[in-house]
Amino acid sequence: MIYLDHAATTPLHPQVMEAMKPFLTHRFGNPSSLHAWGREARAGVERAREQVASSLHVKPEEVLFTSGGTESDNLAIKGIALARQEKGRHIITSSIEHHAVLHACEALERWGYEVTYLPVDERGRVSPEDLLRAIRKDTILVSIHFGNNEVGTIQRVESFGAICRERGIPFHTDAVQVLDHAPIDLTRLPIDLASFSAHKINGPKGVGALYVAHGISLFPLLHGGVQESKMRAGTENVPGIVGFGEAISISTAETLQRRERNLLYRRKLLTALRESGVSYIVNGDEENFLSHILNLSFPGVNRDSLLIQLDLNGIAASAGSACTAGSLEPSHVLNAMGVGEERLNSAIRFSFGWGLRPEEVEEAGLKIGEIVKRLQR
Ligand SMILES: *Cc1c(COP(=O)(O)O)cnc(C)c1O
Repeated sequence: MIYLDHAATTPLHPQVMEAMKPFLTHRFGNPSSLHAWGREARAGVERAREQVASSLHVKPEEVLFTSGGTESDNLAIKGIALARQEKGRHIITSSIEHHAVLHACEALERWGYEVTYLPVDERGRVSPEDLLRAIRKDTILVSIHFGNNEVGTIQRVESFGAICRERGIPFHTDAVQVLDHAPIDLTRLPIDLASFSAHKINGPKGVGALYVAHGISLFPLLHGGVQESKMRAGTENVPGIVGFGEAISISTAETLQRRERNLLYRRKLLTALRESGVSYIVNGDEENFLSHILNLSFPGVNRDSLLIQLDLNGIAASAGSACTAGSLEPSHVLNAMGVGEERLNSAIRFSFGWGLRPEEVEEAGLKIGEIVKRLQR
């Protein structure tokens, strides 16, 4: 079995598992308890917060732990929308966001907010000029992702953030897919809120973080206890948070090697396909892309038949994001890029990551070539 779906989720790193183990067994205390058990759990959570903060170059008090990327996106978008509704009810996002952002925005539309969905070009890039034109007096939030989870295009977040900062509009970015590709220094970028998820970087599922820059206020989505500075009530997922801290430390230390290795895998896969003589088109931006994501269309091939054949041959890939798998809808990302029916219906995402070996990628490349050739005939 060869796993080429690291953008959907990644295997747990053994070092992460080791870090979590004590908190799944004898260190079971509630971090809010004042006795020794509680203090030990609290220390685990706060150490993880420092690991996340130092990886992102921010202050520990600017990191909120959540249940994952989805909750981070929802907390950023709905939290800002509710906190700033007196100032306006207009939000700007892009048409190729992850559904955690798009559906949160759609929910706000049902609550009377207005949302502008910026278009993208054929490479999947949002344009700063379009953002400038969309900004209104009542715009209270701009949310544009950092790197796209389906086609890998990297967005010009620095420009978007600068435009927003000049106008005093909070800028949120979904950065869930970026950490294994490039280190993110949030003190050097004009970003006010950023979402992260542990399971995309070899951490456990069900835990993530939202960076909230000092001075940005949110309306919480969960009310209850005073956890996470009253921004996210509920007893902390201590083992998950500890695992996230470890995973982000490892990922940050290895980012450059991981990027190089993923680029190598990308070249190997493309070479194998070229050599097997199949025709393919790369979807996305071939200049500025996440090194672990490779989205290909195979003209003449139906993506569902191809995915079934790949699965039968022990290769895991996906048709766009995992969250929409199972639904036979074509990808909203490729659709917005205007790639046309043929490319839309034959697009497959391959994604690489930690634990994958070069021989596996070579073997997968050969197998994919054979299968596609058979289907293209
Ligand atoms: C996976 C993903 C999410 C959702 O994160 P979960 O932790 O699975 O909720 C959000 N945004 C992007 C870009 C993702 O790739």
